Amino acid sequence: MFTQKRSHGRLRYWISTLASDEFEGRAPGTAGGQLTKNFISQTFQDLDLDPINGSYFLDVPTSEITLKDSSYLTLSFRGNDRKMKTGEEVVFWTKQARDYRKIRDSEVVFVGYGIVAPEYNWNDYEGIDVKGKTVVIFINDPGFSTGSPRLFNGRSMTYYGRWTYKFEEAARQGATAAIIIHDEEPASYPWSVVESSWSGSQLSLQRNSDDPLPLQLESWIHKDTLNRLLQYTGFNTDSLEEIALSKTFKPFIIRGLELNSDIYNTVNYFKSHNIAAVKKGTTKPDEYILFTAHWDHIGIKEDDLSGNDNIYNGAVDNATGVAALLELSKRFSNVNTDRSILFLSVTLEESGLLGSEYFANNSPIPLKDIVAGFNFDAIFPSGKSNDMVVVGYGASELEDLLETELIKNNRYINPDPSPEKGFFYRSDHISFAKRGVPMLYSNNGYLIVQMRDILY
Ligand SMILES: [Zn+2]
Repeated sequence: MFTQKRSHGRLRYWISTLASDEFEGRAPGTAGGQLTKNFISQTFQDLDLDPINGSYFLDVPTSEITLKDSSYLTLSFRGNDRKMKTGEEVVFWTKQARDYRKIRDSEVVFVGYGIVAPEYNWNDYEGIDVKGKTVVIFINDPGFSTGSPRLFNGRSMTYYGRWTYKFEEAARQGATAAIIIHDEEPASYPWSVVESSWSGSQLSLQRNSDDPLPLQLESWIHKDTLNRLLQYTGFNTDSLEEIALSKTFKPFIIRGLELNSDIYNTVNYFKSHNIAAVKKGTTKPDEYILFTAHWDHIGIKEDDLSGNDNIYNGAVDNATGVAALLELSKRFSNVNTDRSILFLSVTLEESGLLGSEYFANNSPIPLKDIVAGFNFDAIFPSGKSNDMVVVGYGASELEDLLETELIKNNRYINPDPSPEKGFFYRSDHISFAKRGVPMLYSNNGYLIVQMRDILY
């Protein structure tokens, strides 16, 4: 199958195949997703790489929750119900896989940034019990808002600034519902992204019985909408921000404001898959180098932003990364390395890094044996360059090894140009990095050539 002798030809073949209309934008749970998984696993097989426990397909149990139109959310002030316009004013959903959830007369608590971070001496939930209540939260973190390098990580977003963290923490605190206030600059994306990302069906990992229960309701509210609701309370988002940043901040109930909601869902279960293969090492076979790239993209959508056929082909995000992974597997398939190499193409990245999270949480290879990992996500085809961007610069000692190799070739590392956008938390390496695996996430394909020296 490898008629192309040169890597350029192979990369072109892999990218154009994965991004072709036949693959339908590679959404998990679709025929195009199945074609993608078959294509990657067939390549591993042709290269004679080892499966894990007898298969290249690793199960990822998934639930698909679709909110029905009959669902609603109201925020009432002193008993005057105001049904929110879904999409325009709020988006809401539940990650609890149930047909019906209801919330009645839930008091609304302002919890600032919704952060509990002992290492920064910061606790936005101090002194309040939010059980049964609805928490309202600012996106990003106090360092971003003030620009002060002494608060959190200054303008660089910390994990505490991410929406995923806000919902996780609110659930840990026992809240019933959480609403994040959308503001374009600290969120780093416009309201339209919020609207499109959280409408339609939502995919989640199936919960194990001992996993913490997610919130009954997760939601974003448009900043202008919230300001309209707050006009009789004496607050607005500017005054709330000032309060949230004060050293003496304590969370408080916004008197008179209550949330009610009926949530009707259709729930389906299916299995997606991470596709994995191993090339055994010679002298240190129990130590692994990980290469990872997500295979999924967003499939076919009803809107027509993608052009004229509604297929989101995802050539850059992430056919390029998968092509890099396949090229590495091809190159390493016929050479001996000291350590073993794990080639891992994960699913459900676009749904919140679910495939990598599931792998890291249920790894068939002990994570402590993975000594270094490299993630490829959206390698921009921008031509030759002397620099390499390291996203989340400063997070991994692998950067030092990379820098040494780059200098030999008159090249250099370009630190993450927009750390305030939190890209470091927005791809699969984070599922491993947060569990202590040294990971490098670099946005340039030339990494492949240089890496050979490090690996041998
Ligand atoms: Zn991606």
